[in-house]
Amino acid sequence: MTAGVFSCRMCGACCEGAGGIVVSPEDALRLSRFLDLSLEEFHDRYTEPSGTKRRLVSDGRGRCVLFRDGAGCGVHEAKPAVCKAWPFFRGNLMDPVSLSMAKDFCPGIDRDVPHDVFARAGRDVLAREGLAARDPATEANTLIPDRER
Ligand code: SF4
Ligand code: SF4
Repeated sequence: MTAGVFSCRMCGACCEGAGGIVVSPEDALRLSRFLDLSLEEFHDRYTEPSGTKRRLVSDGRGRCVLFRDGAGCGVHEAKPAVCKAWPFFRGNLMDPVSLSMAKDFCPGIDRDVPHDVFARAGRDVLAREGLAARDPATEANTLIPDRER
């Protein structure tokens, strides 16, 4: 994806940590169908409330409940928009310091890519993939373009 700017190394680092993965209503519908569950069953098994939103729960080792050892994301084709959009989060698109910290965390981001090139490529990806969010009550803030906040 996005040669020269970002290419995922499948290290799994972004699937660790509790609470970061917002599941929008659209994500939940897609994931429940992918997992062949009713919407209610999907939420019962895999999500928990976070204010007005829902988020994926983590397993006993602090990894996303949908992560599979040795195989990575267990729902790759249907994963939440926030997972599809990384590393093109609003903060990284707007702030070179944030991008620099993201480069330290994620080995998939080209260490040498200038911020303006990264931001341009990221905005193209978000537009092409339809990943921008609109509703701060149910979708990930980091996918809401700054002008819409
Ligand atoms: S941290 Fe980066 S390289 Fe590692 S799995 Fe996540 S997106 Fe891919
Ligand atoms: S849904 Fe997949 S990509 Fe997203 S955090 Fe969970 S395992 Fe990682």
